[in-house]
Amino acid sequence: MRFLVLLCLALSACTVVETAPRSAPTQPQSINRSAQQAVDAYLKVGARIESVAERVCRQKNPSRPRTYCDFQLKVDPTKTNTPNAYQTIGSDGRPIIAFNIPMLATVQNDDEIAFILGHEAAHQINNHIVRATTNANIGALLLGGLLAASGADQTSIQEAQNIGGTLGARAYSQSHELEADVTGTYIAALAGYDPAIGARSFARFGGGGGLLSTHPPSQQRIAVVQRTVQKIAQDRAAGRNIAVP
Ligand SMILES: [Zn+2]
Repeated sequence: MRFLVLLCLALSACTVVETAPRSAPTQPQSINRSAQQAVDAYLKVGARIESVAERVCRQKNPSRPRTYCDFQLKVDPTKTNTPNAYQTIGSDGRPIIAFNIPMLATVQNDDEIAFILGHEAAHQINNHIVRATTNANIGALLLGGLLAASGADQTSIQEAQNIGGTLGARAYSQSHELEADVTGTYIAALAGYDPAIGARSFARFGGGGGLLSTHPPSQQRIAVVQRTVQKIAQDRAAGRNIAVP
């Protein structure tokens, strides 16, 4: 357990160093905050989302061990130009949510960060079953190789290879993606963010490459988010408790 925490801290620290300098030439022009501001925002928004996601997770999974809902936030420093966010499980059983560096560089505002984090947490909360395992070794190699090159100790490398293996294996069905959008909308709203603004990220990521290519078309996802936002607004206006379905 301790190793995983240390590893995550190391990766975050590494990312701050890597993303801070110079203007990165890779991503779109519309970025309106610096890389350092993006990392700070990710950690700040992540703390608020994590507490809501953990509460919702425990409500929906009362018989699971405590570790099942004890989310960790991570930055994936793998060298790539493709924005990606994912949820996976550490070898200690705790769920991990990670943004890679292009994703951090591309998100436009806190609402987008909140929505994407909520969506990823929702896969764990809703017990979505993973299908497809053919990419598992690729993910393990990328992350493990990177850490080996950076001089991490063997335990950390093994840990990273376990994480990477799970990472590559993650590919959800489209119905699971839409379900995660509904739960993610609730999590973002309950944490005080605007899911409708957050969902605008679909226009950029919805049909994108990598793992995100398994997601349904962005128009369909936006419609699901808008319906959910309306339902939450109606419940709030009527003074009803916001119950995550
Ligand atoms: Zn998803």
